[in-house]
Amino acid sequence: MTASTLSLEGVSRRFGGVLAVENVSFSVAPGEIVGLIGPNGAGKSTLVNLIAGLLRLTSGRILLGAADISTAEAPEIARAGIARTFQTVRLLKDESVLDNVAIGFHAQQKSPLLARLLALPAALAEVRATREQAFAILERFDMAGFAHVPAGALSYGHQRRVEMMRTLALRPNLILLDEPVAGMNDVEADALGRIFQGIAGEGIGILLIEHNMRFVMSLCGRINVLDSGRIIASGPPAQVRSDPAVVAAYLGA
Ligand code: ADP
Ligand code: MG
Repeated sequence: MTASTLSLEGVSRRFGGVLAVENVSFSVAPGEIVGLIGPNGAGKSTLVNLIAGLLRLTSGRILLGAADISTAEAPEIARAGIARTFQTVRLLKDESVLDNVAIGFHAQQKSPLLARLLALPAALAEVRATREQAFAILERFDMAGFAHVPAGALSYGHQRRVEMMRTLALRPNLILLDEPVAGMNDVEADALGRIFQGIAGEGIGILLIEHNMRFVMSLCGRINVLDSGRIIASGPPAQVRSDPAVVAAYLGA
Protein backbone atom coordinates (compact mmCIF):
# COMPACT_ATOMS: atom_id res chain seq x y z
CA MET A 1 0.00 0.00 0.00
CA THR A 2 1.38 3.43 -0.88
CA ALA A 3 1.99 5.50 2.18
CA SER A 4 0.02 8.72 2.42
CA THR A 5 -0.10 11.59 4.86
CA LEU A 6 -3.07 11.74 7.20
CA SER A 7 -4.38 15.31 7.50
CA LEU A 8 -6.96 16.61 9.93
CA GLU A 9 -8.44 19.94 8.92
CA GLY A 10 -10.56 21.78 11.48
CA VAL A 11 -12.06 18.59 12.82
CA SER A 12 -14.90 18.96 15.34
CA ARG A 13 -17.27 16.56 17.04
CA ARG A 14 -20.17 17.49 19.28
CA PHE A 15 -21.97 15.19 21.74
CA GLY A 16 -25.15 17.00 22.69
CA GLY A 17 -23.95 20.13 24.44
CA VAL A 18 -20.31 19.00 24.65
CA LEU A 19 -17.78 19.89 21.98
CA ALA A 20 -15.56 16.86 22.60
CA VAL A 21 -13.24 17.81 19.71
CA GLU A 22 -13.01 21.40 18.51
CA ASN A 23 -11.33 22.62 15.34
CA VAL A 24 -8.38 20.22 15.48
CA SER A 25 -5.82 20.33 12.68
CA PHE A 26 -2.58 18.36 12.35
CA SER A 27 -1.00 15.78 10.10
CA VAL A 28 0.92 12.53 10.31
CA ALA A 29 3.38 11.89 7.48
CA PRO A 30 4.66 8.44 6.43
CA GLY A 31 7.32 7.25 8.88
CA GLU A 32 6.50 9.95 11.42
CA ILE A 33 5.54 9.29 15.06
CA VAL A 34 3.21 12.08 16.16
CA GLY A 35 2.11 12.31 19.77
CA LEU A 36 -1.31 13.28 21.05
CA ILE A 37 -1.49 13.91 24.77
CA GLY A 38 -3.95 15.52 27.11
CA PRO A 39 -5.81 14.94 30.37
CA ASN A 40 -8.72 12.55 30.75
CA GLY A 41 -11.75 13.73 28.82
CA ALA A 42 -9.63 15.91 26.51
CA GLY A 43 -11.09 14.21 23.43
CA LYS A 44 -8.24 11.88 22.48
CA SER A 45 -10.26 8.69 22.01
CA THR A 46 -13.01 10.62 20.24
CA LEU A 47 -10.41 11.86 17.77
CA VAL A 48 -9.15 8.33 17.14
CA ASN A 49 -12.70 7.11 16.59
CA LEU A 50 -13.32 9.95 14.15
CA ILE A 51 -10.22 9.02 12.13
CA ALA A 52 -11.08 5.32 12.25
CA GLY A 53 -14.59 6.01 10.94
CA LEU A 54 -16.37 4.86 14.09
CA LEU A 55 -17.78 8.33 14.72
CA ARG A 56 -19.04 10.98 12.28
CA LEU A 57 -17.49 14.44 12.17
CA THR A 58 -19.66 17.38 13.14
CA SER A 59 -17.48 19.58 10.92
CA GLY A 60 -14.04 19.64 9.28
CA ARG A 61 -12.28 17.19 7.00
CA ILE A 62 -9.99 14.19 7.30
CA LEU A 63 -7.76 13.38 4.33
CA LEU A 64 -5.55 10.41 3.55
CA GLY A 65 -3.23 11.71 0.87
CA ALA A 66 -5.57 13.59 -1.44
CA ALA A 67 -8.58 11.42 -0.62
CA ASP A 68 -11.27 12.84 1.64
CA ILE A 69 -12.13 10.05 4.08
CA SER A 70 -14.34 12.22 6.33
CA THR A 71 -17.47 10.22 5.59
CA ALA A 72 -15.92 6.79 4.99
CA GLU A 73 -17.16 3.90 7.10
CA ALA A 74 -14.79 1.98 9.37
CA PRO A 75 -14.21 -1.01 7.00
CA GLU A 76 -13.37 1.39 4.17
CA ILE A 77 -10.88 3.26 6.36
CA ALA A 78 -9.25 -0.01 7.37
CA ARG A 79 -8.97 -1.02 3.72
CA ALA A 80 -7.35 2.34 3.01
CA GLY A 81 -4.55 1.22 5.34
CA ILE A 82 -5.39 2.89 8.64
CA ALA A 83 -5.11 0.39 11.48
CA ARG A 84 -5.73 0.96 15.16
CA THR A 85 -5.31 -0.60 18.56
CA PHE A 86 -7.70 -0.19 21.47
CA GLN A 87 -7.18 0.92 25.05
CA THR A 88 -7.76 -2.66 26.22
CA VAL A 89 -5.93 -5.75 24.95
CA ARG A 90 -7.97 -7.72 22.42
CA LEU A 91 -6.43 -11.13 21.89
CA LEU A 92 -7.75 -14.68 21.70
CA LYS A 93 -6.30 -15.72 25.04
CA ASP A 94 -6.56 -19.49 24.50
CA GLU A 95 -4.99 -19.41 21.03
CA SER A 96 -1.27 -19.35 20.33
CA VAL A 97 0.69 -16.17 19.80
CA LEU A 98 1.30 -17.33 16.23
CA ASP A 99 -2.42 -17.71 15.49
CA ASN A 100 -3.19 -14.37 17.06
CA VAL A 101 -0.78 -12.68 14.66
CA ALA A 102 -1.91 -14.81 11.71
CA ILE A 103 -5.44 -13.54 12.27
CA GLY A 104 -4.18 -10.14 11.18
CA PHE A 105 -3.40 -11.50 7.71
CA HIS A 106 -6.73 -13.21 7.64
CA ALA A 107 -8.53 -10.00 8.57
CA GLN A 108 -6.78 -8.25 5.72
CA GLN A 109 -8.08 -10.82 3.25
CA LYS A 110 -11.63 -11.07 4.53
CA SER A 111 -12.81 -8.39 6.88
CA PRO A 112 -10.82 -5.60 8.44
CA LEU A 113 -13.16 -5.61 11.40
CA LEU A 114 -10.96 -7.46 13.83
CA ALA A 115 -13.38 -7.10 16.65
CA ARG A 116 -16.08 -8.89 14.71
CA LEU A 117 -13.67 -11.47 13.38
CA LEU A 118 -12.34 -12.29 16.80
CA ALA A 119 -15.81 -13.39 17.83
CA LEU A 120 -15.77 -16.12 15.15
CA PRO A 121 -13.84 -19.26 16.15
CA ALA A 122 -14.42 -20.64 12.65
CA ALA A 123 -12.00 -18.05 11.35
CA LEU A 124 -9.16 -19.89 13.04
CA ALA A 125 -9.24 -22.71 10.51
CA GLU A 126 -8.48 -20.27 7.75
CA VAL A 127 -5.45 -18.64 9.32
CA ARG A 128 -3.12 -21.60 8.93
CA ALA A 129 -1.99 -20.63 5.46
CA THR A 130 -0.71 -17.36 6.79
CA ARG A 131 1.28 -18.82 9.66
CA GLU A 132 4.59 -18.53 7.86
CA GLN A 133 4.15 -14.83 7.34
CA ALA A 134 3.07 -14.47 10.93
CA PHE A 135 6.15 -16.33 12.12
CA ALA A 136 8.39 -13.95 10.17
CA ILE A 137 6.84 -11.04 12.08
CA LEU A 138 7.42 -12.84 15.39
CA GLU A 139 11.06 -13.33 14.46
CA ARG A 140 11.44 -9.71 13.59
CA PHE A 141 10.27 -8.67 17.04
CA ASP A 142 12.12 -11.33 19.03
CA MET A 143 8.93 -13.16 19.90
CA ALA A 144 9.51 -16.38 17.93
CA GLY A 145 10.20 -18.23 21.17
CA PHE A 146 6.63 -17.49 22.24
CA ALA A 147 4.99 -18.66 18.99
CA HIS A 148 3.18 -21.62 20.52
CA VAL A 149 2.38 -20.12 23.90
CA PRO A 150 -1.30 -19.26 24.49
CA ALA A 151 -1.59 -15.47 24.28
CA GLY A 152 -3.34 -15.35 27.63
CA ALA A 153 -0.28 -16.81 29.36
CA LEU A 154 1.95 -13.90 28.35
CA SER A 155 2.76 -10.90 30.49
CA TYR A 156 0.74 -7.78 29.79
CA GLY A 157 3.68 -6.16 28.01
CA HIS A 158 4.12 -9.15 25.73
CA GLN A 159 0.39 -9.28 24.99
CA ARG A 160 0.59 -5.69 23.84
CA ARG A 161 3.49 -6.62 21.58
CA VAL A 162 1.45 -9.44 20.05
CA GLU A 163 -1.33 -6.95 19.34
CA MET A 164 1.15 -4.69 17.56
CA MET A 165 2.41 -7.58 15.48
CA ARG A 166 -1.13 -8.50 14.50
CA THR A 167 -1.73 -4.90 13.48
CA LEU A 168 1.41 -5.06 11.32
CA ALA A 169 0.05 -8.13 9.55
CA LEU A 170 -2.62 -5.83 8.15
CA ARG A 171 0.20 -4.01 6.31
CA PRO A 172 -1.15 -0.63 7.33
CA ASN A 173 0.27 2.65 6.11
CA LEU A 174 -0.80 4.39 9.29
CA ILE A 175 -1.36 3.11 12.83
CA LEU A 176 -3.49 4.76 15.51
CA LEU A 177 -2.38 3.75 18.99
CA ASP A 178 -4.72 4.56 21.86
CA GLU A 179 -2.69 4.44 25.09
CA PRO A 180 -0.54 1.45 24.10
CA VAL A 181 1.65 1.49 27.22
CA ALA A 182 -1.08 2.08 29.80
CA GLY A 183 -0.45 -0.28 32.72
CA MET A 184 3.11 -1.13 31.64
CA ASN A 185 6.31 -0.63 33.56
CA ASP A 186 9.13 1.38 31.99
CA VAL A 187 10.99 -1.71 30.75
CA GLU A 188 7.93 -3.06 28.96
CA ALA A 189 7.09 0.37 27.58
CA ASP A 190 10.57 0.88 26.22
CA ALA A 191 10.52 -2.52 24.53
CA LEU A 192 7.26 -1.56 22.82
CA GLY A 193 8.71 1.84 21.97
CA ARG A 194 11.54 0.20 20.06
CA ILE A 195 8.96 -1.76 18.08
CA PHE A 196 7.18 1.50 17.22
CA GLN A 197 10.46 2.98 16.02
CA GLY A 198 11.03 -0.06 13.83
CA ILE A 199 7.54 0.27 12.38
CA ALA A 200 7.99 3.97 11.68
CA GLY A 201 11.36 3.16 10.12
CA GLU A 202 9.49 1.21 7.47
CA GLY A 203 7.60 4.32 6.44
CA ILE A 204 4.45 3.70 8.44
CA GLY A 205 3.05 6.78 10.17
CA ILE A 206 2.05 6.44 13.83
CA LEU A 207 -0.36 8.56 15.82
CA LEU A 208 0.54 7.85 19.43
CA ILE A 209 -2.04 8.72 22.04
CA GLU A 210 -0.56 8.42 25.48
CA HIS A 211 -0.80 9.44 29.06
CA ASN A 212 2.79 8.46 29.77
CA MET A 213 4.63 11.74 29.15
CA ARG A 214 8.12 10.28 29.39
CA PHE A 215 7.25 7.70 26.74
CA VAL A 216 5.71 10.21 24.31
CA MET A 217 8.59 12.62 24.71
CA SER A 218 11.13 9.89 23.97
CA LEU A 219 9.44 8.70 20.77
CA CYS A 220 7.72 11.61 19.07
CA GLY A 221 9.21 14.23 16.83
CA ARG A 222 6.09 16.31 17.23
CA ILE A 223 3.48 16.39 19.97
CA ASN A 224 -0.02 17.87 19.96
CA VAL A 225 -1.55 18.70 23.31
CA LEU A 226 -5.31 18.45 23.56
CA ASP A 227 -7.29 20.08 26.36
CA SER A 228 -11.10 20.25 26.47
CA GLY A 229 -11.19 19.27 22.80
CA ARG A 230 -8.78 21.95 21.59
CA ILE A 231 -5.12 21.82 20.61
CA ILE A 232 -3.41 24.11 23.11
CA ALA A 233 0.16 23.40 22.03
CA SER A 234 1.94 21.69 19.17
CA GLY A 235 5.62 21.17 18.44
CA PRO A 236 8.77 19.24 19.33
CA PRO A 237 8.86 17.63 22.82
CA ALA A 238 11.20 20.22 24.38
CA GLN A 239 9.02 23.09 23.24
CA VAL A 240 5.76 21.46 24.36
CA ARG A 241 7.20 20.48 27.74
CA SER A 242 8.02 24.07 28.61
CA ASP A 243 4.85 25.64 27.16
CA PRO A 244 3.08 27.47 30.02
CA ALA A 245 -0.37 26.47 28.77
CA VAL A 246 0.66 22.81 28.79
CA VAL A 247 2.22 23.04 32.21
CA ALA A 248 -0.96 24.61 33.55
CA ALA A 249 -3.42 22.28 31.82
CA TYR A 250 -1.62 19.01 31.96
CA LEU A 251 1.79 18.64 33.47
CA GLY A 252 0.90 20.69 36.50
CA ALA A 253 -2.30 18.76 37.10
P1 ADP B 1 -10.07 11.09 26.32
O1 ADP B 1 -9.89 9.89 25.45
O2 ADP B 1 -9.11 12.20 26.00
O3 ADP B 1 -10.04 10.76 27.78
P2 ADP B 1 -12.76 11.16 25.24
O4 ADP B 1 -12.57 11.35 23.78
O5 ADP B 1 -13.08 9.79 25.71
O6 ADP B 1 -11.51 11.74 26.03
O7 ADP B 1 -13.93 12.11 25.74
C1 ADP B 1 -13.98 13.51 25.41
C2 ADP B 1 -15.29 14.09 25.89
O8 ADP B 1 -16.36 13.61 25.09
C3 ADP B 1 -15.65 13.77 27.31
O9 ADP B 1 -16.29 14.89 27.87
C4 ADP B 1 -16.60 12.62 27.18
O10 ADP B 1 -17.47 12.55 28.26
C5 ADP B 1 -17.31 12.96 25.90
N1 ADP B 1 -17.76 11.78 25.16
C6 ADP B 1 -16.95 10.83 24.60
N2 ADP B 1 -17.67 9.90 23.96
C7 ADP B 1 -18.98 10.25 24.12
C8 ADP B 1 -20.22 9.69 23.69
N3 ADP B 1 -20.27 8.58 22.94
N4 ADP B 1 -21.35 10.34 24.04
C9 ADP B 1 -21.31 11.45 24.76
N5 ADP B 1 -20.20 12.04 25.19
C10 ADP B 1 -19.04 11.45 24.89
MG1 MG C 1 -9.37 7.86 25.95
